[in-house]
Amino acid sequence: MWQELHLQVRNRLAVVEGVATGGDERVAADLARSEVPLLVTAIRVLLDGHRPDSEGHCRACWGRRWWQRPTVPCRQYLLARTALLDLPANAREVA
Ligand SMILES: [Zn+2]
Repeated sequence: MWQELHLQVRNRLAVVEGVATGGDERVAADLARSEVPLLVTAIRVLLDGHRPDSEGHCRACWGRRWWQRPTVPCRQYLLARTALLDLPANAREVA
């Protein structure tokens, strides 16, 4: 199950990336109109739970003991921001 899901998502991302970076301009423009909104929705869904609780801890990063829960912005949110804004991997400051 996991492997099938993983391959499905990875393959879809590879196709989108391949067309966006190597496809002709018309195909890339058509792809942008159809796929970018889906990618934006996917990112929103993934980040939606990474909000602070009343104590400023991430609600989604709950797997740890309560005293070890990360504060917001958590690592996942910072990684998404780094990738989305094409920042250096060590960019941790919140602008
Ligand atoms: Zn989190």
